[in-house]
Amino acid sequence: MRVHITLECTECGERNYLSTKNRRNNPDRIEVNKYCPRDRKVTLHRETK
Ligand SMILES: [Zn+2]
Repeated sequence: MRVHITLECTECGERNYLSTKNRRNNPDRIEVNKYCPRDRKVTLHRETK
């Protein structure tokens, strides 16, 4: 039960990462700190949609 998600930078809105998550473990939107090439630093990325 893994679904594909897109991770979007919360600072510039760039969609930087494709990922998967387990819907049972993470029913809500997930947030992760990841490197954004546009901001050139680690920012908070949030699942889109
Ligand atoms: Zn960014």
